[in-house]
Amino acid sequence: MPVTGEQLAALNGQGPLDAALAYAALGWPVFPVAPVDLATGNCACKRGAACEEPGKHPLVRWTERATTDARQLRDWWHWQPHANVGVATGQASGLVVVDIDPHHEGDLTQKALEAAGHAFPPTLTARTRSGGWHLFYRAPEGRHVANTTGSLAGVGSTPGIDVRGDRGYIIVAPSVRPTSPDPATGAPRFGRYQWVASDDALAGAPAWAVVAVPREPVARGHLAASPSSAPEKRAAAALGAEVRRVRSAGEGERNVVLFQAAANLFEICNTGWLDEAQVRAELTEAGLAAGLSASEVSGTLKAQWHRKLGVVRPGWPPRGGPGAGAARGPLPVRRQGLGKGHLDEGGLGEGGLGR
Ligand SMILES: [Zn+2]
Repeated sequence: MPVTGEQLAALNGQGPLDAALAYAALGWPVFPVAPVDLATGNCACKRGAACEEPGKHPLVRWTERATTDARQLRDWWHWQPHANVGVATGQASGLVVVDIDPHHEGDLTQKALEAAGHAFPPTLTARTRSGGWHLFYRAPEGRHVANTTGSLAGVGSTPGIDVRGDRGYIIVAPSVRPTSPDPATGAPRFGRYQWVASDDALAGAPAWAVVAVPREPVARGHLAASPSSAPEKRAAAALGAEVRRVRSAGEGERNVVLFQAAANLFEICNTGWLDEAQVRAELTEAGLAAGLSASEVSGTLKAQWHRKLGVVRPGWPPRGGPGAGAARGPLPVRRQGLGKGHLDEGGLGEGGLGR
């Protein structure tokens, strides 16, 4: 019997270790995330009070160490009993998560997507600490699912809606993170991630959320099964694969492929496993080899970099890519633009930079 929202909701009031063990039993690789100090609201990560995203920094190199091994989970939570719970998304867990943030108009974007025929099938759903929603879907087998922030290739700009896929992670119940401080006293306030009790089970990811190019399949549980493999190696392999995709992209899709490649690789740059200058140089060379002009390449890389920083420029991502959705043009969303400092749920390694 597949797990239902009702069953997961039983974890809302449990301790983080019990919840972590329950997720592991579902086959979801888990890892500990820095908790917040309930007196001060400060993050337990290295940055402490200076941390801009308290409660979402992995305490271990999660891309290698996220695991379903109960003994390892007990060790971790014995070490950090209040640690928040992170779950690896993408092919590691078979999960794709659609993150809807109403503070960045994700609710309006959802309506616009639905009006454009992009359904949000009922599925396992969590309420985030800030009043948003995490919709958990089954990842398509053998396909790469990109982590995206505020836009999707073939769909266009999606303010307030992000997708967590391969090399991404998500914070899950019963994790606690700060919300806005009390306006009267300035005292820290907190919100808890909570499952929605419903009869719904994990549904297949809607096609619009996983617009992607087929790739070499990665074995399920791959991350957990190879804790000793070097992340540098994996990062270098990702760079090589993206460069090959850009080089072999056909006319009409190459700009979108370059845009996606830059999104994936800049994400890894954030973790420190790839050098940004090298990524730029290799993508530029590949884009030119695919027939793009130097100004097209630099424009696309610049737009992706700006988007990563939370600045959305109208007209991006570039249109004309693979998938009929590209012809539809931008979505009828009222206002574009992510708030500066829009924060992203995944793709950060240990000590990764917030955005
Ligand atoms: Zn932190």
